[in-house]
Formats: sequence, C-alpha cells, structure tokens
Amino acid sequence: MPGLYARESRSVSKMAHLRFFPQAVVGGSGAYLTADDGRQLLDFSASWGAASLGHSHPAIREAVGRALSDQAGASYLSSANEACVLLAEKLLSLVPERARGRVWFGHSGSDANETVARIVVAATGRPRILAFHGAYHGGTIGSMGVSGHPAQQGSRAEGLTLVPYPNSYAAGSPEAARDAALAHLERLFATEVPPEEVAAFFIEPIQSDGGMLVPPDGFFKAVEALCRRHGILIVSDEVKVGLGRSGRFNAFEHSGIEPDIVVFGKGLGGGLPISAVVGPEAIMNHSVAFSLQTVHGNPVCAAAALAVLQTIERDHLILNADRSGKVLREALDRLTARHTLIGDVRGRGLALGIELVTDPASREPASRQAALTVYRAFQLGLVLYYVGVQSNVLELTPPLTLTPAEAESGVAMLGQALADVAAGRI
Ligand code: PLP
Repeated sequence: MPGLYARESRSVSKMAHLRFFPQAVVGGSGAYLTADDGRQLLDFSASWGAASLGHSHPAIREAVGRALSDQAGASYLSSANEACVLLAEKLLSLVPERARGRVWFGHSGSDANETVARIVVAATGRPRILAFHGAYHGGTIGSMGVSGHPAQQGSRAEGLTLVPYPNSYAAGSPEAARDAALAHLERLFATEVPPEEVAAFFIEPIQSDGGMLVPPDGFFKAVEALCRRHGILIVSDEVKVGLGRSGRFNAFEHSGIEPDIVVFGKGLGGGLPISAVVGPEAIMNHSVAFSLQTVHGNPVCAAAALAVLQTIERDHLILNADRSGKVLREALDRLTARHTLIGDVRGRGLALGIELVTDPASREPASRQAALTVYRAFQLGLVLYYVGVQSNVLELTPPLTLTPAEAESGVAMLGQALADVAAGRI
C-alpha cells in the first residue's frame, strides 16, 4: 500500500523490502508480540506459521539453552549430532510407511523443496514435474522453479507443468471444482505431458499462499490413483499447514493419501531455521550429496524442533488446533453475516482463510480492501496477512496454543477492522 509506509517508524526504516507493518517488535509471549512502542499485538499469523508454539515458549527456550551450552558440533554433514538423529527418528515415525526411509535437514521450506525438486529428477531419470497454479514452494531459484504463484512468474523450471488447484468457491461447488481439476489432469496426460516422463507431483494438502484452498473430498485420492498408475512420486509440502496445524499431524491425512515424500519447515523449529525432507531410501540416497549447506542439521535448531514435536504431543496441541480452530471458524462465520466484504471462509483447524470480495454476487476480488484490513487490524492490535493469487484472502495461521478467548478477541478486532474499511474510515 503506497502511502502507508510513509508512516513507518525509524526503527524499521533500514529494512529492505518491508512489506507489511511499519513497526518493529521487541518481544513476545504466547500468542502476543510486543511492539517497540509497548503495544501488545495478538499474532494471528504466528510469524507466518513459524512460531507454532507461540512466542518465547519455555520448552524451546530450555531446549535451545541446553543445546547451546553443550553444543554437539555445528552441522550434521561431517558427523551426525544426537539431536538430529533423534529428530530424524521422530519424523520417520510420523510419515506413512512408503516415505519411511531417510531424512535430510535444511534451513527453510525453500531449500527443502529445492532439494526435492533436484533429487526426484535425478533419482527417477524423468525430466518433468507437476505442481499447482498458485502454489508457493519457496523463494530460491530451485523452489520457485516448481512453484505456480503469480508472484514467481519468470522463474519456472523448464520441465514444470502447472495444473489448476480445485477452488470450490470459484467453481460454485466442491464437486464441480474437483471434477474440472481432475478432467484437466487427465486431458494433460492424454495430450501434452507424457506421464511416464513425470518424476513427481508437488502437492499442497491445503493451498495456503494461493488462497487457503481446501481440496474437495476425493480429489487427492483420485490424484494419488493417477500418480500410482504412472509411477509418479507424490511430494506433500507440509511446510505451512503441517505439524498439527490442520487438526491432524500431517495435513494430507485429511485426504486419506500416502505421499512418497513429505516436506516440513516453518513451525518445525518453532521460530528457529530448520526444515526436513522425509522420503524413501532409493530416492533420498541418490544425489542428496549435491544439496549441502554448512550448518544444515544444526544441533541447536534440531533441539528446538524436538522440543516442538514433544510439546505438540504432551500438550495435545493437535486437538487444540482442531478445537480452537472450530471456535475461530464459528466466530468468523458470525462475522460473515455482518460484513458483505466477506465472500467465503474456509480452512482446516488453525489454517483459515477469509476471501474478501467487493460484492458477494460478482465475487470481484477486494484486494485493496484486504490490504487495508490487514493494516487497520495491525493498528487495532491484531497481526494477520493476506494471500491468494489476487491478494484478497486474509490468512489466519495462529499459534497451535491459541485459546478460545484469544480466538474471540482476535475476531472482534478483525470485525472492527472490516467495519472501518467498509465505512472508509481508513
Ligand atoms: N512451502 C509452503 C507451502 C510455504 O507456505 C512456504 C513459505 O511461505 C514455503 C514452502 C517456503 O518456506 P520458507 O519461507 O521457509 O523458505
């Protein structure tokens, strides 16, 4: 929003590419951040999903403190450290049997997806990859190469083919969306893309950056059947919506499918940089040696990730994501009745999207209003972002620890922000 940034505080004026908020934060606790003017901000984004346990969680503080004071190496490349070994064992136990081979560690969702893009082509000898229009798999050249988000046009890999993600709201019904997307895929295999040349299909079990799209029932089961028939590997990008956020540990579980490769990131480190790829031995051992960065598998980050996984289990946070997600969803549904800007509310657990439209009949994307709502909410004390191929979907990915009271409080601020935008008060 040109103009809005003119008001940024001195504290952030040296930051390149500042996109959203003109203010720095100086601390955080649970679902709240403290801004540099002392304001408490309720973080409905969990720092884009990274702060899965909220901010400054004691389990992460303790694990990181211990790991730092008794650091076992700096990388898992020369010799594996204990935290990485334990983390690898844990992650292997959390994926389907067919993916239970080896674990690779990286720093981010981007380097993890880039690694997968490289190894699937090298290991299968097949040159092509499928992914969805609207998919965001990362911001490095290799991960942008398998992404389909409009923000990444110009970076697509040569062997990439993009297919539509079913959009139930745009299509009018989940069934219509599912059938059209599947028909497109089958037509593609029959005409332009020989399936025997496709190494892998990168899927998002819920398409987050493309607009928080929830796949219709049966869609991924049919995709899985097609992939199995043609020997195409399924890669599930769980970076934003996995690790309990959707109300199940893996978001693909809602669709009843079993991917060959699972990619974790963001919330895995609870705010520290660590990602992981889990997949079958034959694939993972192939050319993984070409994807090395010095401090991959850092023991401090691995210790944080172990603490995240242990806390999710101990505190029943998957159940909490489901329960608090329902409270949030019901409160958002109540907002829908009062705000004509809201066209659709969708998502699973604590991965929710609110599509804003200028009028519910025409469904014209209300992109400017989405940006203004995000900014107004920030002024009122609520942090959230917008996503979507038209930048008109408000994205809610709060910490998995969110309480029903925090859910209600955030929705009250969001309602006020929407009312202010609709009334032109901002
Ligand atoms: N995959 C998905 C689904 C994402 O949402 C993102 C980031 O938004 C990434 C991959 C890239 O992760 P990172 O930003 O940690 O590189």
